[in-house]
Amino acid sequence: MNLRIGHGVDIHRLEAGRKCVIGGVEIESPVGPVAHSDGDVLVHALMDAILGAQGEPDIGVKFPNNDNKYSGASSILLLELVWKEALKRGYVLVNADMSVVCEVPKINPSSAAMKENLARVLNVASDRIGLKATTAEKLGSLGRGEGIFASATVLLEKKD
Ligand SMILES: [Zn+2]
Repeated sequence: MNLRIGHGVDIHRLEAGRKCVIGGVEIESPVGPVAHSDGDVLVHALMDAILGAQGEPDIGVKFPNNDNKYSGASSILLLELVWKEALKRGYVLVNADMSVVCEVPKINPSSAAMKENLARVLNVASDRIGLKATTAEKLGSLGRGEGIFASATVLLEKKD
């Protein structure tokens, strides 16, 4: 089997009054990520894991901050682009496992919807998508609710 592992992380500052989209799900939240795109921290980490598994440059190179085309962009649509390219190269997803760390918002009430979203885009059953959420135990800037962090690991298999 031609297996490739990939890993990605992402972090965004959180500010009051901003829209909060995580895993393609808009969450009712007093704070949201500061970002050029919709700031979907989970999808950003996942895209970097998928790109990393293929030895491709990261999303900062692929979708530059200074390109107005990506201003306010839906990260789920960017994930669709990234995944379409991976499929073209012959990759399928074996599984993905992800973690989100933040004090606010609460992730768990929306995690099933996030998993469904990601599974749909990546053409797999949702049991191939792992998603956990935890807090930073009030430690440091994440613990003060100033930001949100996500980490993703993927296993791809190249079919040829
Ligand atoms: Zn990001």
